[in-house]
Formats: sequence, C-alpha cells, structure tokens
Amino acid sequence: MILIKQSGALSRHLAHERSKGHSIGFVPTMGALHQGHLSLIEKALQHSDLAVCSIFVNPTQFNDTSDFEKYPVTIEQDVLLLEKAGCHVLFLPAVAELYPDGTQRKHDYDLGYLGTVYEGAYRPGHFQGVWQVVEKLLNLVRPNHLYLGQKDYQQCEIIKQQVQQSGWDIDMEVIVCPTLREPDGLAMSSRNRRINEVKRSNADGMFKALSYIKNNIREYPVPQLIAGAKTIMEAKGFDTEYLDIIDGHTMRPITEYNNNEKIVAVTAGVFDDVRLIDNMVISENT
Ligand code: AMP
Repeated sequence: MILIKQSGALSRHLAHERSKGHSIGFVPTMGALHQGHLSLIEKALQHSDLAVCSIFVNPTQFNDTSDFEKYPVTIEQDVLLLEKAGCHVLFLPAVAELYPDGTQRKHDYDLGYLGTVYEGAYRPGHFQGVWQVVEKLLNLVRPNHLYLGQKDYQQCEIIKQQVQQSGWDIDMEVIVCPTLREPDGLAMSSRNRRINEVKRSNADGMFKALSYIKNNIREYPVPQLIAGAKTIMEAKGFDTEYLDIIDGHTMRPITEYNNNEKIVAVTAGVFDDVRLIDNMVISENT
C-alpha cells in the first residue's frame, strides 16, 4: 500500500494509474477502522482495479467540539488493517492540506430538504461540513466508484443528490453497501469504542427497536410502531433524539404503511454519553 499525504502527489499518482486504464474505487473514512469500513474496501477491490481509502477526521463536520476532540484516532492499527485488506492507496492528509485557507466555510451549500431533517436538524452544519470535504476529496481522487455505508443513510442520500446536481465531468457511480453489525445487532461504529464495557450489553436496544418496527410494520399503525420502538430503546438506557419511519427516497415521514414504497426506519440516540445512529430498510417494493 502506498501512503500519500499531499494532494498533488495523490492526483499525480492516480492520473498515472488512470492513464494505464485502471479504474478507481474510493472509500472515504474518518479512521478508527472496523470491519464495516473494511467491507467497503473489499467491495472496492472486487469492482475496481485500484482501492483508494482516505482517513481524515474532518473538523468542519463536527458541530460539537468535544465530539471532535474525543473522536478515536488509531492510525497505526488502521494502516495495518488496510495493508492486510489489500488496499492500494491510503490518502492521509493533514487539516492544512485539505483546508489551506482555514476551515471557515466560504458559502453554504443548498442541500435542500435532505439537509434540514434528522441529522441535519440535530447536528446543525454537519452535512455542510460533510459535503465540503467530500467534494474536495472527489475532485482529488476522481473515482469511478464511490463506496458508502448504508449505516449513514442520510449522508448517502445527500451525497447522491449533490453528485447528481453538481454536473461534474466525473463519471462516477455511488455504491451504497450494507451495514455491518456486531453479533447482538449493534451497528459497527468507531464511536462504539467509547461505550462503557459494563453497559455495552444494553447497546443492542437501538437494533431491537428497529427490528421491532420491521417485524410489526403490517400489524400496527405507524404512530404506535414509533412509540413502541422508542419504549424499547429507552428501556435499555437510550435517550432518543429521533425515531421515524420514512419514505426511503424522499426521506419524508410516512403516516401509514404502503408496501409500494421503499420504507426505512431511522433513529439517533445517546447511550452512555455516546451518540449513536442507525437505520433499517423495512420494505423495498419499488
Ligand atoms: P466514517 O469513518 O464513520 O466516516 O465512515 C466511513 C464510511 O464507512 C462511511 O461511508 C460509513 O457509512 C461507512 N460505515 C461506517 N460504519 C459502517 C458499518 N457498520 N457498516 C458499513 N459501512 C459503515
């Protein structure tokens, strides 16, 4: 694996690979890698000639400075994991490399309705920062395939929307990969490392709540399902921020089940001082 820290060196290296006819699969991450991240690298290796991973804890997407400061950094272990997975290129820029003029955003992006709800509402400015860095990374890497995890459902929808609207000359396919989970259902996340070991056994509450919705979608009206799912999470010690059942394409809440739509349950909550998010596709008859 080649480790590159400078944007210019990355662009030159990838231009050279492209000139040899090699396709590029890109997996942007914030590090503290786990099996979920590595599953994206595996997909990139299957479908692209070259797997490129970036590790960058992007300061502009943290609305809460203590969350940024506490974000786990395990770079040596990450490098070993990527080597072992067969990743070809790791891009590891410093903050000044991606933000030479400082991290202040010059303008706000119009992310439409998708930018205003759920994570957009609970983490003001978060998606502005996400798109700010993803746009920079895509312009540098110019991948043929971009691999994202369904774990961050809203992020996937926003990136797909922005890529479509940007009118780039980059011919790029966005591939959303399934969420990898721990044996008890907890979605793998870099933040899980911060969950206290004693309390860890209750952290399956979020998965249990989403599974309850999936298993009962035909049985109960939507408001009752939402209330029931919140009760499950909260009984396990979660402080629910939002829990909703939505149309998977528009991300607008649904009021009743209609099996002609893609339906997704989305949630966020704080468990043991750690903010967790998750989602589950409830039905996908489109
Ligand atoms: P992050 O490092 O949290 O920014 O995540 C980098 C990429 O990995 C994003 O596309 C995430 O959606 C994806 N990802 C994170 N957790 C998982 C998971 N448990 N399963 C699959 N993909 C994931």
